[in-house]
Amino acid sequence: MFALDPIHIGTGGYQIGRVDNTIVREPSTNIPKIPGSSIAGTSRTYATYKAINEGKIDKKNIDCAGQDKAVSDKKERGHCGDCIICKSFGFSKNDEKIGSSQGLVYFSDAHILLFPVSTRLGPAWITSPMLLEDFDIQLEENEPSDDCIVVGSEFSKESSLNLGWLNLPIENGKELPSFDHLASLGPKKNKLLSSRIVIVPDSLISQIINSNLEVRTSVSIDPVTGAGKDGALFTSEAIPRSTILWFELGINDPDYFGYGKKSENSSEEGKSNTRISLLDVKSIVKGGFCYFETLGIGGMVTRGFGRVTIEEVGENDSK
Ligand SMILES: [Zn+2]
Repeated sequence: MFALDPIHIGTGGYQIGRVDNTIVREPSTNIPKIPGSSIAGTSRTYATYKAINEGKIDKKNIDCAGQDKAVSDKKERGHCGDCIICKSFGFSKNDEKIGSSQGLVYFSDAHILLFPVSTRLGPAWITSPMLLEDFDIQLEENEPSDDCIVVGSEFSKESSLNLGWLNLPIENGKELPSFDHLASLGPKKNKLLSSRIVIVPDSLISQIINSNLEVRTSVSIDPVTGAGKDGALFTSEAIPRSTILWFELGINDPDYFGYGKKSENSSEEGKSNTRISLLDVKSIVKGGFCYFETLGIGGMVTRGFGRVTIEEVGENDSK
């Protein structure tokens, strides 16, 4: 996942401190992340749009996007409980005939892999042994020593490099691992990023990320006067543009849930009519990913936040 805009997934509350609107973080490391539930919810909506646009499901299934409206409204709108969207992403109905079911797809949280920081020599993308290991890249003897960094070819002639305000000595003779997955960004971005990767020790990664987040100041507009409201200046933090994150997408086989084409005969009358295959589910979920590039994810998408590209980089797991 590559951030085309800053990404703001808010914690939903206000905090007294440096910024007003804070973002979601991993509790153990304090590193910002995108919760899997946000990716799943957004994916559900976009997969529905895409399937309707392509005529794969009926227009009335627009109610299957987002949260189930029928919970509060008894007029029987909301999740149908039968279409490929409901079966893929799950549904919960009070109606006994339909019942509820967990979805076939599972989204992990999106974790930062490479995070952009400005240096005196232009941008660097930082990571750490821990972040790399989460993504299944092992460094072994190339791990940076305490308070030192391991750098890509662009910075290898230097003896030290500043990451924001922090200047750290460069360790020579240690190499970066290969980042084959970056090929999906296209040759130009891949070349630029690969040569500018910097590995920092785990003890510093959270501090460097948190002191280089994007902080934007906005003003609330008074709808009556059309001018800024008095005292309505607020700041929001965000994961900056060009951050690279990864998440896992797991898909259960519809056959195990009795939705599959193989289990056609076991269908109970009136309960489950739509037959789907693993490939159908994968294509419906991935089909929705294109809208992340235009409509975005998270808060303040109307203020130029949230657009990301999503590329599949693993055979058995999408990252
Ligand atoms: Zn449905």
